[in-house]
Amino acid sequence: MNDLFAIDPRLRALSDAVEKQCAPQFERAQRVSRENSERVLAAFIHNRVSEPDLHGTTGYGYDDRGRDTLDRVWAEAMGAQAALVRHTLISGTHTIATALFAMLRPGDRMVAVTGRPYDTIQATIGISGTPGQGSLRDYGVLYSEVPLTPDGQPDLPAIASAVRGAKLAHIQRSRGYSLRPSFSVETIGRVIDAIRAADPNVIVFVDNCYGEFVETREPPSVGADLMAGSLIKNAGGGIARTGGYIAGRGDLVELCAYRHTCPGIGAEAGCTLDVLREMYLGLFLAPQTVENAVKTAVFSAALFGALGMGALPAWDAPRTDIVESILTGSAARMVAFCRGIQQGSPVDSFAAPEPGAMPGYASEVIMAAGTFTSGASIELSADGPLRDPYAVWLQGGISYPAARVGVLLAAAEMHKEGLLTLPE
Ligand SMILES: *Cc1c(COP(=O)(O)O)cnc(C)c1O
Repeated sequence: MNDLFAIDPRLRALSDAVEKQCAPQFERAQRVSRENSERVLAAFIHNRVSEPDLHGTTGYGYDDRGRDTLDRVWAEAMGAQAALVRHTLISGTHTIATALFAMLRPGDRMVAVTGRPYDTIQATIGISGTPGQGSLRDYGVLYSEVPLTPDGQPDLPAIASAVRGAKLAHIQRSRGYSLRPSFSVETIGRVIDAIRAADPNVIVFVDNCYGEFVETREPPSVGADLMAGSLIKNAGGGIARTGGYIAGRGDLVELCAYRHTCPGIGAEAGCTLDVLREMYLGLFLAPQTVENAVKTAVFSAALFGALGMGALPAWDAPRTDIVESILTGSAARMVAFCRGIQQGSPVDSFAAPEPGAMPGYASEVIMAAGTFTSGASIELSADGPLRDPYAVWLQGGISYPAARVGVLLAAAEMHKEGLLTLPE
């Protein structure tokens, strides 16, 4: 093969060996993708998606057939009663905030049962950020938190006692920017069983960001009442340019629709402009896209593992999200890693990422992303704060063969700067 990227033959040889080693994991990702693709296709067929559904409306968007059909397709694909899929849900954070505000009333208590929630959700709850912006706390919603056990697992007895009398339990599937393990759908099911046994009236909400289609079932199939996620992560398949989804119990999704637009209107209005085609196509492709991202994560874990770096999860561990943390061990390696990822991006390949200050972070942060959709982390991207253990969070890859190049360039860049030795 003509090497357009001038990758050291030793690194090429190592990557070929690593890829062979990953074959069983790749096969697993393929099996998951096959099952999920069939479920999504069946949902399209059962709901009789037709050509006019792909075209949107303007103005109030009354009787928007494509929007209503998409909600039903989504619900079926996710194993939920109902869904609300909107381009006007601007991000994962906005979508999760919409769901939480829809569920919670003054005096209610929310319990985060898998430890401190993802950074951006904290300002919505009111445990970070500026008082007075209208957080849940500003509205008199009470909050408590159950830390994970020392090995990063949900603390079931502590959860059972904390949720009694609470309105809502919050579970986060992916680990976000922490190094705790992500939680499989099976583990989420065990947490839900513990919550139900303690108090059957608690609403169980799952932050499903980064988790969609990594396994063959989603949180509603193990009893979650409601879940939410972003369309510029897994569920948009790399095609949707913006948006979010909420799926779960019909009565709760309806409340979310009232919160998203307004009471009395709910899901009856909201025009779709020209976004429906990409939302349908994105969902249709999502299982396949996620397969590519999972393969990229597995390959990276194995490659950097072979080069002497830690990787979480390990290359051969079961997966429940698309996030991989590579423990590079030094600031210089982190910078080189991100430069390599950037060089292998289809957009802005010529940019050189630099560490910089970010609001909300104590240390400098570096990011690499050259994406078709701004900020889309289903596309190959890497970032992390420059502090011990100098971990980069790597995610995405809508095409494994192309993302693999980015990962190889990350290793090549470290090598070029004398930060690692290649096996002879
Ligand atoms: C990405 C993410 C969010 C927030 O999504 P944004 O689209 O970045 O606002 C929330 N929770 C988890 C676990 C995430 O990974």
